[in-house]
Amino acid sequence: MEISGHTQLLCLIGSPVGHSGSPAMYNYSFDRLGLDYAYLAFDVKEEETADAFQALRLFGAKGFNITMPCKTAALRCCDELSTAARLIGAVNTVVNEGGRLIGHNTDGLGWVRGCRASGFDISGKKMMIAGSGGAATAIAITAALEGLGELAIFAQRDHFFANAEATVEKIRGHVPGCKVSLYDLADKERFYAEISNSDIFTNATRVGMKPMDEMSLIEDKSAFRKDLVVSDVVYNPRTTKLLADAQAAGCRNVPGISMLLWQGVEAFRLYTGLDMPVEEVREKYFSE
Ligand code: NAD
Repeated sequence: MEISGHTQLLCLIGSPVGHSGSPAMYNYSFDRLGLDYAYLAFDVKEEETADAFQALRLFGAKGFNITMPCKTAALRCCDELSTAARLIGAVNTVVNEGGRLIGHNTDGLGWVRGCRASGFDISGKKMMIAGSGGAATAIAITAALEGLGELAIFAQRDHFFANAEATVEKIRGHVPGCKVSLYDLADKERFYAEISNSDIFTNATRVGMKPMDEMSLIEDKSAFRKDLVVSDVVYNPRTTKLLADAQAAGCRNVPGISMLLWQGVEAFRLYTGLDMPVEEVREKYFSE
């Protein structure tokens, strides 16, 4: 596609953004679908978030993605928020609807769609999730909104623990059909008891990524029943120790890279109303 005076702008804001695969993925998809859009990446610091919103509003950008550290500051800059973005407390996708900037969060939906693509439907199921940071909050809240039956959250007692307590309150208040409980990650007896009756275990902590790439939260490998689905948000490395152990035990896996791909697919749909050529994009940008 050639850029013309009519080409519409989309972009990523955050810092750093130089390593991001988003411009390649979106521009390839725009080209494949013959859409007259161009996607760039702008380095924006957290305290510059409001200015970036104002600039993109002025330029009539069609939409933009937001990465760290601007996802929380972006909440206050939107004219309207989706239910998921409001409850998660973070925005990763903004759509310009006739001058109104609508904030969404597709991280959790990306995880749900990644599960579905791996053949696992969360409806009515029980999930055990470890973690209470950004990724964990997005997954826990979106999974509850999307029909999860029961959720057991295990969180380390660090400064993220209050997030988990807030998530429990939000789910109880807004999605009473999803039963939710919170435990200390250090309680190993409860950890293994809960995993034994869960349908899916999700690691949403930093354990598994460098410098913790030799570690997995599931140390007792007898916990890997064949009918347990194991998901990891960590995507670097692609196959974490948790996923390698789960694979060796014959469990179905949902890798972190799948959440990354599908959150982009969801954002693309919000921007364009169309499906990204997902298999081509996976092959081109998401295979090892
Ligand atoms: P965060 O800093 O917001 O939260 C980190 C979480 O890890 C906290 O709950 C913290 O308590 C926990 N944690 C850290 N060290 C721990 C340890 N030693 N034992 C137990 N828990 C520990 O981070 P985040 O943004 O939620 O990201 C977490 C991971 O998810 C990162 O690896 C990130 O790259 C990945 N991520 C992946 C996607 C994706 O699309 N796949 C999206 C967002 C984040």
